[in-house]
Amino acid sequence: MKRVWLALAALLFWNGAVMARPIKLMILDGASAAAYHDWKLGTQILKRELEETGLFDVTVVTVPPADGDFSNVNPDFAQYQVVVSNYDSQDWPATLKTEFETYMKNGGGLVTVHGADNAFPDWSAFNEMTGIGGWRKRDAPAGPKWFYDNGKLESDAAPGPAGLHGKRKPFRITARAPAHPIMRGLPTEWMHATDELYTRLRGPGKNMTVLATAWADPANRGTGHDEPMLLALRYGKGRIFHTTLGHDAVALSCVGFITTFQRGAEWAATGKVTQKVPKTFPTADTVSYRADLAAMDPEGPTEF
Ligand code: ZN
Repeated sequence: MKRVWLALAALLFWNGAVMARPIKLMILDGASAAAYHDWKLGTQILKRELEETGLFDVTVVTVPPADGDFSNVNPDFAQYQVVVSNYDSQDWPATLKTEFETYMKNGGGLVTVHGADNAFPDWSAFNEMTGIGGWRKRDAPAGPKWFYDNGKLESDAAPGPAGLHGKRKPFRITARAPAHPIMRGLPTEWMHATDELYTRLRGPGKNMTVLATAWADPANRGTGHDEPMLLALRYGKGRIFHTTLGHDAVALSCVGFITTFQRGAEWAATGKVTQKVPKTFPTADTVSYRADLAAMDPEGPTEF
């Protein structure tokens, strides 16, 4: 009997220790190659959203250093359960790429936000991790375009540039994998706050589950397809959550963005989601956003 109590006490202690230990998370950013993304502000907003969950211990790593020299850049990926990439900057040296590939193959986690899927057009392992990406001269060799038509995942290998978006507007998201841990409990449709709707993304599309799509209206330079917005992928033992959403402070402040981002980061780190869906989650017809986060942009939430 005594042994049973001891075993029970040990189990409770172990559970308590696991529960109390925050998920070690790295936000990786760097001077954006594209002036249209305020990457520093984006990182601040993403950091706050992660910390508000109480689940994550967040460290921001900015590469490369101001002198552009990668020789001393050696983030110890293995000490983090998940890396959130807000990185659309310079290509990496081969050694750093190999370290990251090893980290992911061994069960690491990756979350890519919006323009982070523009980065590294020639790094095939990274493109496998994200499934699809855009711009940076990607074309047919990058892989086909992936989209939904009539509720089914389709691909188109015809050549043409990857990545396009129309004017920023609110748009409706449709859930496609309601049983996935990130999506469980979310409505089938919700309105996303004003953002860019990425289309014509190309990539290998391996081990990829499309979690949610949005219809790209031809009247706003869209394809007429349901374009992938949220994706879950596997790379070796690693897990990847890819959100194409989040162009600016307004887009990042959408409660739909925040909820899927927070849940996606937890899933990429642990394979599970323990977070509840907030009552303020947007509906099929109404946008819901956090004014306090949108206001972190000094120019303010002008779209509303
Ligand atoms: Zn953008």
